Amino acid sequence: MARVMNFNAGPAALPLAALERAQRELVDLEGTGMSVIEHSHRGKAYDAVHKQALSLVRELLAVPDSHEILLLQGGASQQFAWIPMNLLGEGKSADYVITGSWSKKAFSEAKNVGQARAAATTEKDGKFPRIPAQSELELDSKAAYVHITSNNTIAGTQWHEFPDTGSVPLVADMSSDIMWKPIDVSKFGIIYAGAQKNLGPRGIAVVIVRKDLIEGGRKDIPKIFQYRTHADKQSLYHTPPTFSVYLLRNVLDVVKQGGGLAAMEKHNRQKAELLYKAIDGRPDFYRSPVDKASRSMMNVVFNLPTPELEAEFVAEAQKKGMVGLKGHRSVGGIRASIYNAAQLSWIDALVEFMNDFKKGS
Ligand SMILES: *Cc1c(COP(=O)(O)O)cnc(C)c1O
Repeated sequence: MARVMNFNAGPAALPLAALERAQRELVDLEGTGMSVIEHSHRGKAYDAVHKQALSLVRELLAVPDSHEILLLQGGASQQFAWIPMNLLGEGKSADYVITGSWSKKAFSEAKNVGQARAAATTEKDGKFPRIPAQSELELDSKAAYVHITSNNTIAGTQWHEFPDTGSVPLVADMSSDIMWKPIDVSKFGIIYAGAQKNLGPRGIAVVIVRKDLIEGGRKDIPKIFQYRTHADKQSLYHTPPTFSVYLLRNVLDVVKQGGGLAAMEKHNRQKAELLYKAIDGRPDFYRSPVDKASRSMMNVVFNLPTPELEAEFVAEAQKKGMVGLKGHRSVGGIRASIYNAAQLSWIDALVEFMNDFKKGS
């Protein structure tokens, strides 16, 4: 079997053990004689999977009782709309910190729903090279919430210290770095993430919401978009994407067996450090467009001297079994997405390739 070294940004690589388990169980889930996809979402077999997925999220992230965990459809982009729909009542305003294309999209969707303002932006010549300092945030102390993007998948930047928003709930799009390390969930009003980067397959968003925000949420919007509807039914109000939830369960189980998020952080820091060292070691050839203090541990972006060399780099890497290294179409360059499932051996191979490629050109 030839598995490639998959550096895709999303959907992205998943732990092989999680996929192999799915392969083994695909036609017969635990002796039930049918696939998880064929099971009723109201039956015992699926219910066990569903509950396990939820409890693994709670356990791994140490989610306190003050917060509900929801598994919702529509991905992270749909949460861009759900959040203001639920939290942004008449006469309220929300603050958005703009650090990349995804925060821009979230901000723009909020403005479609109600009042929102940019509390800071780090856009410079169309790029987002850094995360703002606390002192740059012009926060409205009466805001309904403050929204940040914890990891900027395209720009390759990441918040390494979360902002202090006082009593205003902090809402974070963690689509591309949820569970990369332990965090203090109690500091957040909402954490949300499309699953397809660090957690599993496309098809669900994991949404962690403080209970008082669910209770205080608007009731004058369609029931299906109210957090309380799904919280009241443990995310079984209607048919959930059962196969996605099942695979989420498999992935989280692998993370747990591997030592949980503390072990994951160590593994991730080691990978990122190797890669940034390879970039910094050859400043005449490889260049990081991102401020050092804002560098992402998940999406490592860099440039070569010319776009032609970058195209050649991507093509040559592919021949060696390394795929997905082309930068996002909006910014170009190279991007190595090294989420939880990316192996240390892949980074070693990439670093070796980077050294050889420079010598050859
Ligand atoms: C990928 C991504 C999204 C979009 O996720 P969808 O599930 O495709 O809507 C949003 N925010 C961030 C930070 C992302 O990386």
